[in-house]
Amino acid sequence: MNERDSEAVAAQLVAKGYSLAVDLDSADVVLLNTCSVRDGAEQKAIHKMEAVAGRMRKTRPEVVLGFLGCMAQSRGGELIDQLPDVDLVIGTQKFHRTADYVDDLLQGRRGKIIDTDEEQGSEATIREHLLIGNAPKKSVTAFVSIMQGCNQFCTFCIVPYTRGRERSRGIADIVDECRELAAAGVKEITLLGQIVNSYGKREIGIVDGKSAFVQLVEAVHAVDGIERIRFTSPHPKGYGDDLVAAYSRLPKLVEHAHLPVQSGSDRMLRLMHRGYSRARFIELVGKLRKAAPEIGIGTDIIVGFPGETEDDLEQTLSLCQEIEFDNAFVFKYSKRRDTPASEMPGQIQEGEIEARHAIVLKQIDEIRGRRFQKHLGSEMEILIEGPSRRNPERMEGRSRCNKIIIIDNGKCHAGQILPVQITSATRTTLYGTPVLERRN
Ligand code: SAH
Ligand code: SF4
Repeated sequence: MNERDSEAVAAQLVAKGYSLAVDLDSADVVLLNTCSVRDGAEQKAIHKMEAVAGRMRKTRPEVVLGFLGCMAQSRGGELIDQLPDVDLVIGTQKFHRTADYVDDLLQGRRGKIIDTDEEQGSEATIREHLLIGNAPKKSVTAFVSIMQGCNQFCTFCIVPYTRGRERSRGIADIVDECRELAAAGVKEITLLGQIVNSYGKREIGIVDGKSAFVQLVEAVHAVDGIERIRFTSPHPKGYGDDLVAAYSRLPKLVEHAHLPVQSGSDRMLRLMHRGYSRARFIELVGKLRKAAPEIGIGTDIIVGFPGETEDDLEQTLSLCQEIEFDNAFVFKYSKRRDTPASEMPGQIQEGEIEARHAIVLKQIDEIRGRRFQKHLGSEMEILIEGPSRRNPERMEGRSRCNKIIIIDNGKCHAGQILPVQITSATRTTLYGTPVLERRN
């Protein structure tokens, strides 16, 4: 989501006549978009800004320095008290004001600017893309932000405080954006929201037995030129039968779901205020696999939540074995200020969290390796995204079930959708060869 927000800000600046600097030293404006989900992300952004300010202020004191996003929202003016070199602090509902503020600062109309207010309608302002118009970046995939905020208030999470309450854009507006993207060559859209399948619950509601989110997926499905639809992150709680059925009904909806489970222990899930049980989660995965047998399932896991016992951790490990996730991001619990979990008894020492993290990571790696081996010899349809990041001689594509596949054939081009056979697998990467002639 931050990548998408940054892209929209950059596109707005480009539309006003600014251009993207090739490197830090040639920039007149340096903006850091920030994440607050874990303390590590905040510390990283602060250290980065200290380094940038240290370098810039010596030689080019006129350079504008700004923080955007979640940390800007939660810390506001504190950031300028801590780092007086910072000129600009813009919260999560004000990204679209960045270009005006930068103008003001560059022209010396204002000294420091802090804007972290709420703004009605801000959910519809993340709209511009760098790949449209005279912008420099072309891509066959694009993110589309469909809603902002979250009302779930998981007890560990800062997002409802930094991103505010759930607010959704209208279907027609989103479809227009997808049409523009298709016209610019985009083949695959990823619909984005913090709790993406809560989309339009209040604003649109259920029509003909279909949730607002499913209505939206259908509308995007009807856009010519868009060949694939993904979304992230859904909440297991909001995965109704209509959404499960959409996987077997809508061919452009790819077989992939990133379904953050956080823990395999019911006791932890309750304390986390996740709104589902282990059994419900397993049942949902079963339904999804029935509707789309090839579906890739990813997840997020938190280890070291306050009060987590060895038994709770065991339950997370056994859930991972049972489900066999294709991919999982494993996070060390990070205490976030003002969240209920930060006050809970049983806070776990950092060293212990590290040890538990290593145990879960090891298991996730083993499971992924096992699943990768199962793919050997199978055929997958991939969308070629461009040259491989590791080896530009090769091309890289993504399967419908969200696996990155590296292929040798230099003749294919970005945007092509083609079947490949998986020929080898390492622990982290799959390799394939295009299937040129399909057998009958
Ligand atoms: N809205 C998404 C998650 C957004 S945050 C969802 O509910 O699925 C992305 C991930 O960061 C979460 O799934 C969680 O695993 C992790 N996370 C959030 N807060 C955290 C915290 N305080 N400490 C560690 N990990 C956290
Ligand atoms: Fe945070 Fe996701 Fe829970 Fe919302 S649903 S509070 S974004 S973890």
